[in-house]
Amino acid sequence: MIENFIASTKYTQNLFKINNKILEEIEVTALDEKVPIITREVLNFMVFTARGIKARNILEIGTAVGYSGIFLAEVAKENGGYLTTIEIDEGRYNQAVENFRKMKILNDNRLILGDALEEIPKLDKSRKFDFIFIDASKGQYMKFFNETWNLLNEGGLIFIDNIMFKGFITENYENTPKKYRTIIRRLDEFVKKLNLEYDFVLLPFGDGVGLVRK
Ligand code: SAM
Repeated sequence: MIENFIASTKYTQNLFKINNKILEEIEVTALDEKVPIITREVLNFMVFTARGIKARNILEIGTAVGYSGIFLAEVAKENGGYLTTIEIDEGRYNQAVENFRKMKILNDNRLILGDALEEIPKLDKSRKFDFIFIDASKGQYMKFFNETWNLLNEGGLIFIDNIMFKGFITENYENTPKKYRTIIRRLDEFVKKLNLEYDFVLLPFGDGVGLVRK
């Protein structure tokens, strides 16, 4: 067990270098504006994982300003596909469009403005995904998962971030802050269902990462 987990996390984050000025600016601006973007160590692992399965078509739920999406779009492009990403907040969606434009990848990918629970059923069912990144409202994770499972190719992966919710996930959520209890209870149910019924692994790093393989 690593005693100083925070220092180890920082060390791991610093190993991940971004060699692109525009992308670095997007990251800095998002952090300054308190947009909750993926942390570098989780991003590094996610890109490693998506690249490892040669993910061609990728779906992201929760674009925010497009930071993680830019990396996923790159993996999809390497494998001859593209990224579809959904964001509910119009301001963030507009920023993501602008960021994809700056990176010159706007026309190669599909950015959708709307509630993922309404937009997913409208996606073309004949075009399945190899990699799905769930990173939107935590209380809805089970629903996002249920909506997307049939859209995942055999051998594909669903990558779920923040599944342990600030480390609050526990079997005894009565002892956790009141305002988070519903989310924690739902995440706990979700994790247990995945563990029981699916090919699932839970990684307690970052904010908790869940991986499900079909
Ligand atoms: N994936 C982004 C990144 O790492 O750069 C960060 C995404 S942020 C954690 C979560 C985003 O999901 C927010 O911008 C929020 O507006 C969006 N969101 C929340 N509920 C949603 C829903 N039902 N459908 C689509 N987007 C949603």
